[in-house]
Amino acid sequence: MSKEEIVNDASMFLNSMFDEAHKDYNSIELSESDIKGLIYSSKMNFHSFSENRKCSVKFCRKKAVNSHLFQESILKKNSQNGHYIYPSADLNKRQIKLEKIGVNKALTFPGFCITHENMFEYEKKEQLNYEHELRTLVYKAICYNHVYWDIIYKYSEDSITALVDKKHKQFEKSTNNKYKNLLDSLGIEIKKLHFSDPRHKNLKQHLKERKIIINDSLIFKKLAWKDIESNKNENLKSYVIELDTIIPIFFSYFGNLTIKNDDLTFDDKACLIIHPFKESTKLIFTTTTNNHVILKNLLNRLTPELTWNFILSSLVYISDNWLINEEFYNKYIPVGVKELLESAVSLPLTPPNK
Ligand SMILES: [Zn+2]
Repeated sequence: MSKEEIVNDASMFLNSMFDEAHKDYNSIELSESDIKGLIYSSKMNFHSFSENRKCSVKFCRKKAVNSHLFQESILKKNSQNGHYIYPSADLNKRQIKLEKIGVNKALTFPGFCITHENMFEYEKKEQLNYEHELRTLVYKAICYNHVYWDIIYKYSEDSITALVDKKHKQFEKSTNNKYKNLLDSLGIEIKKLHFSDPRHKNLKQHLKERKIIINDSLIFKKLAWKDIESNKNENLKSYVIELDTIIPIFFSYFGNLTIKNDDLTFDDKACLIIHPFKESTKLIFTTTTNNHVILKNLLNRLTPELTWNFILSSLVYISDNWLINEEFYNKYIPVGVKELLESAVSLPLTPPNK
């Protein structure tokens, strides 16, 4: 045998071994309970985070306390016996379940240090009177969304690593270390071998999308802070729709927002807040100053009835970061919307026309 033939032979042997290993690897299916156990830790609750983090404010190094996205006293006033319902993922049934949450926990996150907790002046008055107060509310909502996605990203990344590890281990076990010994003798570590796994690819894609949201929220967070410091709407601008009734729905979203009406379309990053105050409910749309005109022209067309429809569709299609008074939910949310919410596997749903 020539030297070349020996090399060819060896590489053919290696190739067929990899093919075989690949087939064996792909035949391994982790059980549902394995996946569930690895992806979701048992006590994780996305509507109430507590983690050791620093304050969200630029350059502040102090420890963040448990901040409320929406202030506790306003929440209390609009609650039913101190509780709200919110969409929680029921992992056993693999669907959304509307569950109760107490105001002390509802939409809490490690947001700000004790000092910076005092910058939200509207909370004490339960009213938004000045542009400055509005800016701080928007800032808080953006920070919430940033922390929320950042924590979820970390959880997801850890669980994906755990899943891949588990699959590698199962692979070694089920093939009786057949390949391991062979690879060991060649000095190749089994963990370094990457086999394409469609589920793994989906998860990776998922992570990539989350990373984009985190980066976008970070950009908006910086812009919002600049405006607070300069006391001007230089970077971000809000459009507020005020309804003269108190609707006990608290809602927050940051990300891509699409609104269409006839010839006008807004399709860009925005922050959306729905917030009941002392005498009214406000819908606050915030985007960059460049995009503000289109958004404003579109929202100018919203009649009170269309605004109510917009609120309802936001609960289903825009975000799952919301709280509703249960009595209000039972009485005023249309049956069709309830059916969508209560039969969903995850929220928000993708709009049907997309
Ligand atoms: Zn601070």
